[in-house]
Amino acid sequence: MRLSKSLIPTLKETPAEAQIVSHRLMLRAGMVRQMASGIYAWLPLGQRVLAKIAQIVREEQDAAGAEEVLMPTIQSADLWRESGRYDAYGKEMLRITDRHERELLFGPTNEEMITAIMRDSIKSYRELPQIPYHIQWKFRDEVRPRFGVLRGREFLMKDAYSFDLDREGAVVAYKKMMLAYMRTFQRIGITAIPMRADTGQIGGDLSHEFHVLAPTGESGVFYDAAFEAGDATSATDIEAFYEQMTTIYAATDEKHDLAAWDKIPAERKREGRGIEVGQIFYFGTKYSEAMNFAVTGPDGQKFFPEMGSYGIGVSRLVGAIIEAKHDEAGIIWPDAIAPFKAAILNLRQGDATTDALCEKIYASFGNEALYDDREERAGAKFAEADLLGHPWQIIIGPRGAVNGMVELKRRATGERFELPVEEALAKVRG
Ligand code: ATP
Ligand code: MG
Repeated sequence: MRLSKSLIPTLKETPAEAQIVSHRLMLRAGMVRQMASGIYAWLPLGQRVLAKIAQIVREEQDAAGAEEVLMPTIQSADLWRESGRYDAYGKEMLRITDRHERELLFGPTNEEMITAIMRDSIKSYRELPQIPYHIQWKFRDEVRPRFGVLRGREFLMKDAYSFDLDREGAVVAYKKMMLAYMRTFQRIGITAIPMRADTGQIGGDLSHEFHVLAPTGESGVFYDAAFEAGDATSATDIEAFYEQMTTIYAATDEKHDLAAWDKIPAERKREGRGIEVGQIFYFGTKYSEAMNFAVTGPDGQKFFPEMGSYGIGVSRLVGAIIEAKHDEAGIIWPDAIAPFKAAILNLRQGDATTDALCEKIYASFGNEALYDDREERAGAKFAEADLLGHPWQIIIGPRGAVNGMVELKRRATGERFELPVEEALAKVRG
């Protein structure tokens, strides 16, 4: 994109309503605008990050054997009466009445809907296991929406649901999802720690939350430094990986177990704060039974499939990543989810040689570079590129341009390199 023609309405002033750094930076960088309390419009820069995160989430769900579907945002109240959650859910549920006085709601989660779909489609144990998932907007009428997209009312979630023959199968699905989650966070470029959790509204008896470490996190977390060194992308044995993740110690405030904590060598003890970016649950036949979803088993008898559900807060991740990756000057995007691989900074707009080299470099990136082609001072261009957080800045001035040289700046480290164009581009492309 050309910056001069892009909808990236950056702000000079720090918005007064934003209490935490990710919210301030997202507004200042023109990524989002609040349209109503806890409801945001995603502008091009924000939308690009959201889409890249969603794509990594999708690829890892697919790799784990899950299948993508797309369920509606609006659900019927009757579905939720079947599970008994219509009344139980309380004021967080946004209830809607249509013109025929039918009761609807904006979905806060999809256990009921997916169970109804499966009940209608799956008749035999031979069709199991299944793990449908979707990436769809949810609505929860939070009492206190705050911290920008970290606690919105409308937010994007990936939710997957597993259906298995028996408990053993369901636990395998649960372990697969844990590995898929750790791979997802690692590919995104952040450290997330899985922690034993309560099952809350969803119910059930096994659950883990995944927390991104950031000083502004809502929960206190206690963990073993071994988590920071973990490598999920190279793990191949699901059982061994799960065993490792669940035997290293980690817990939130509520679950802090002093006896287990004391066993960790002092030099490996870490205390910090975390932002919950995902949660997985195994809850057995809670929904299949309540909603009478039974299939025929190998012995000809009907049985209720064993279920689990698996959420990732895709829009919350955008804020959480910024909380974990920023400095005084602005955002520092990890390469994998940066809105653009690089910014091209033209330091002498209007100089024929400089313009021509910038255009050539810009064309070679397709849609993956942001070309700062504005009539602006160099200082303003540097500041804006730092604020927007591109992993690389390709800086082009008239002196270098004559000799085919550019300057490269790595945002995360501040390192600078003077290089011939082709070498610079090769470095940016990795
Ligand atoms: P929280 O405890 O933060 O309110 P939750 O435990 O109620 O979240 P889940 O039902 O586990 O949320 O939903 C799965 C994921 O969806 C969460 O891990 C989180 O990343 C995301 N999420 C939940 N509520 C919100 C929200 N209000 N705004 C943004 N993301 C959210
Ligand atoms: Mg949760």
